[in-house]
Amino acid sequence: MPASPALFCTRAFIGLGANLGQPGLTLKSAVHALRKLPDSHLKAISSLYRSTPLGPAGQPDYLNAVVWLETALPPHTLLAALQAIESAHGRLREIHWGARTLDLDVLLYGNDVIATSDLTVPHPELKNRNFVLIPLLELQADLRLTYAMPLSSLPAARDHHGIELIASHWTD
Ligand code: ATP
Ligand code: CA
Ligand code: CA
Repeated sequence: MPASPALFCTRAFIGLGANLGQPGLTLKSAVHALRKLPDSHLKAISSLYRSTPLGPAGQPDYLNAVVWLETALPPHTLLAALQAIESAHGRLREIHWGARTLDLDVLLYGNDVIATSDLTVPHPELKNRNFVLIPLLELQADLRLTYAMPLSSLPAARDHHGIELIASHWTD
């Protein structure tokens, strides 16, 4: 890791999604970019999943995954870095929940609770989305939210409707 060993690292989980262009190639490229984030170390990558889209009808299916990042970047710096990676992959911010080439969400940032105008952590929809919880729990099965509820006990964590495992190893 490029960071000095003295830097304090936080365990962060990033959700990846893509449903335009060539989503598989985009997600591989996004993982490559996440590996190069400053003061950060990519610890683990979940399996790749296909999921039925939320939001406006008529969109292609999504590909989704989650990565575990150990990072010394403060949360808003991390968000800005993720948005730069989105932009570098042609992300246009148009319709809410509309189709996109790449979506990178901060799911968890240590045990921090953040409620600012541009960043809410834990991600507000984390508890409701099987395409986020299933890959997230692959990486860390005993994760809890700050109020101690095991994420694995959430109904969405056991709901496999609309989500399909595509590949366990997919980034090389
Ligand atoms: P959702 O947040 O429901 O998954 P989305 O990913 O489609 O929806 P975007 O259009 O990508 O939403 O993001 C809208 C705004 O959400 C961003 O500009 C960003 O500032 C804000 N935001 C708030 N919390 C987070 C977070 N935890 N991770 C990423 N973006 C966040
Ligand atoms: Ca999202
Ligand atoms: Ca987003």
